[in-house]
Amino acid sequence: MAANTAFVIVGAGLAGAKAAQTFRDEGFDGPIALLGEESERPYERPPLSKGYLLGKDERETLYVHPSQWYAEHDVDLRPGTTVTAIDPAAHEVTLADGSRVGYAKLLLTTGSSPRRLSTPGAGLDGVLYLRRLADSDRIKEALASASRIVVIGAGWIGLETAAAARAAGVEVTVLERSELPLLHVLGREVAQIFADLHTEHGTDLRCGVQVAEITGADGRANGVLLTDGRRIDADAVIVGIGITPTTRLAEAAGLDVDNGIRVDARLRTSHPDIHAAGDVANAFHPLLGQHIRVEHWANALNQPQVAAKAMLGQDVTYDRVPYFFTDQYDLGMEYTGYAEPGAYDQMVFRGRTDTREFMAFWLAGGRVLAGMNVNVWDVTDPIRDLVTSGRTVAANELADTDVPLTHIAGRPAGTG
Ligand SMILES: Cc1cc2nc3c(=O)[nH]c(=O)nc-3n(C[C@H](O)[C@H](O)[C@H](O)COP(=O)(O)OP(=O)(O)OC[C@H]3O[C@@H](n4cnc5c(N)ncnc54)[C@H](O)[C@@H]3O)c2cc1C
Repeated sequence: MAANTAFVIVGAGLAGAKAAQTFRDEGFDGPIALLGEESERPYERPPLSKGYLLGKDERETLYVHPSQWYAEHDVDLRPGTTVTAIDPAAHEVTLADGSRVGYAKLLLTTGSSPRRLSTPGAGLDGVLYLRRLADSDRIKEALASASRIVVIGAGWIGLETAAAARAAGVEVTVLERSELPLLHVLGREVAQIFADLHTEHGTDLRCGVQVAEITGADGRANGVLLTDGRRIDADAVIVGIGITPTTRLAEAAGLDVDNGIRVDARLRTSHPDIHAAGDVANAFHPLLGQHIRVEHWANALNQPQVAAKAMLGQDVTYDRVPYFFTDQYDLGMEYTGYAEPGAYDQMVFRGRTDTREFMAFWLAGGRVLAGMNVNVWDVTDPIRDLVTSGRTVAANELADTDVPLTHIAGRPAGTG
């Protein structure tokens, strides 16, 4: 039997690193192992499609902790280490080299990975995905030499990459299967604003199209053929068609898996000594009364802190309202709350959509499910208050920029 490490964390991304930090912040002084298959120490991914890809952020600014932090905090960080199996009964994980690491409690922060294109030509050189630092380096390199690229998928990653490509002076065609970019997530009105943003910046945005094939010559992609017979030339093809949670280990170990690893509000899996957090966790949300899986930075930052505390025996639950952000060209946006397609019956706008300085709210029965602020700042707290309070609001008040949001949210003015 392997020697026991008190806490083993599988997956050295943001969630894994934050969990390790929380164990120490909470005063735990026993052994912690942080096992990650990437060769890099934990880093943040949002800049990979924004500041880092644009050449504005230095590589060193991406990392969650300075390199010496792990040794200073006695965290046994093992980059380049893939965990191949979990044995919940023996309380052990197996590594790719066949060795085993024992644990008292295990945290799974295995994240997610890009969904792969399955069309002919998908394996050609020059078909690129964006998840890891090296992917961002590859895309940056491609943008430096390409004169035109195709982006498949107008989701967050696709749109941010398209914006970076335009900034690099590259001709960009974005292909999207549905009628508008982000339609499913944001609804028609806001989706149209994003569509306009990109076309105004010179992107050839083609919605309602399907990719038949990536064409190529000498093993290298040179264009995309659509099912309607049209062909678009490209020096590189960037694919952003969503992600899938990395649940293979959990499934093989017999844990409850359904759209991610299912965990309760304490972020505990179906095995009492195994927790999960971050992109991979489909967690019961006490406020929403349902399981949700959130594929965003703030969740990967905050959820593992609760998981770590729960693993230390504290009576905690994760009930933060989902939050995410994006930056595209001169548009900065934050979204707070959770409004599934079909769950809302009204949208309210506040401010000016024509100059892209506004807020949008998704309501159901007069209650705010989610709010978005576009180029308007320091309003996340009152938006969150509106969402968590569950109170019914008057749409005309919400739309009126003369009525302070803090007033509607019931928060004393000047507190955010
Ligand atoms: C390009 C890009 C831009 C983004 N921009 C934004 C943004 O603007 N706003 C926002 O809110 N969110 C954004 N996100 C999402 C955000 O980065 C993710 O939600 C976050 O990275 C999730 O962190 P995580 O630690 O849960 O998982 P990951 O970051 O996926 O980390 C999981 C780690 O576990 C490792 N791993 C998996 N299986 C094993 C195994 N068997 N053994 C060992 N290691 C394993 C993986 O290699 C990986 O390193 C962006 C993501 C990307 C890729």
